[in-house]
Amino acid sequence: MNIHEYQAKEIFRANGVKVPRGIAAFSVDEAVKAAEELGGPIWVVKAQIHAGGRGKAGGVKLARSIEDVRAFAEGLLGTTLVTHQTGPEGKVVNRLYIEEGVDIAKEFYLGVVIDRATDRVTFMASTEGGVEIETVAEETPEKILKAAIDPAVGLTAYQTRELGFGLGLSGKQVREFGRFASGLYDVFTKTDCSLAEINPLVLTGDGGIIALDAKLNFDDNALYRNKDILEYRDLSEEDAQEIEAKKYDLSYINLDGNIGCMVNGAGLAMATMDIIKHYGGEPANFLDVGGGANEEKVAAAFRIITADENVKGIFVNIFGGIMKCDVIATGVIEAVKQVGLQVPLVVRLEGTNVEKGKQLLNDSGLDVISADSMADGAKKILNAITA
Ligand code: ADP
Ligand code: MG
Repeated sequence: MNIHEYQAKEIFRANGVKVPRGIAAFSVDEAVKAAEELGGPIWVVKAQIHAGGRGKAGGVKLARSIEDVRAFAEGLLGTTLVTHQTGPEGKVVNRLYIEEGVDIAKEFYLGVVIDRATDRVTFMASTEGGVEIETVAEETPEKILKAAIDPAVGLTAYQTRELGFGLGLSGKQVREFGRFASGLYDVFTKTDCSLAEINPLVLTGDGGIIALDAKLNFDDNALYRNKDILEYRDLSEEDAQEIEAKKYDLSYINLDGNIGCMVNGAGLAMATMDIIKHYGGEPANFLDVGGGANEEKVAAAFRIITADENVKGIFVNIFGGIMKCDVIATGVIEAVKQVGLQVPLVVRLEGTNVEKGKQLLNDSGLDVISADSMADGAKKILNAITA
């Protein structure tokens, strides 16, 4: 799960990780009020969307007067911001963050990730602040300093000193950096983050270390024990079909293609997408209805797939293992009756009671194209949508 910059900064503030003073605003009047409360002389008006690259796209504005703040707030609220992270469709700005202007002496990058290769939470720091870290990694990888953390010991003073001096900080600044980094590590572990990124982390004119930007991602599987983090969820930032799928406990990811897939089991879902691509098609989604899918779940899955207007055909690929094929066929037939069928539907069933299942589909009177294998199914749905 992602949250907004202002929410991440709220968490930082509560845990002693230094951030500038700032107030979130949902309207132009609130933005002006926030600016008055903060007091000048300089404010930064920041669009709050779940994507970075806002600065370059005009989503971060430096204001030198309350009138500026009002004008920028009017200009940003309700507009669609397209950054290199939003995709061409962009994201609508519904929230702003009004922050005090910070006197920047130097910008750094600080990231915390889980390194799958070492199984360790790993700090990454670089003097190349404000720059895409992917670009730094590609062009000047030596400029990224790393520290892998032993979970039994935690982030040590030795490690923060090594990173701090590596960034070219002086002794006093290194101590500031150490306090910042250990606070960040506490937040990361306490709230089950999967990623924390501060870009830029800045050294201020008076020698302080402070987060100017803040991005936190959380492990969805740990949200049950971080109820307060769940409160930060902004559904308007998430895909509507993915939200609907979560209600029914379906694993669903919206993709760019036009063949809707309904599959049981993540491995089979991956293989189904592969075979569609193998025959030159593009899947419209990843969808795993799970091992114990019932009629209600299958119907919900159908609704979600057909709600996607890019879907030009549906490929149901089910292996009846724990579930029997006849039960699945009944579910599919009921689902089609409930939600209707505007596009070709190919069904491939295999496993327990497969003959009974096929018979049910044949007898249903529905316009279902039956397939005998995955390859056969993929070819048939591709033929059906190009016919
Ligand atoms: P994004 O990464 O989405 O572009 P940032 O929060 O990193 O957004 O802001 C972009 C740039 O704006 C920063 O690199 C920094 O130079 C400047 N900036 C952001 N917040 C402030 C602030 N409070 N005071 C001064 N400059 C800021
Ligand atoms: Mg940034």
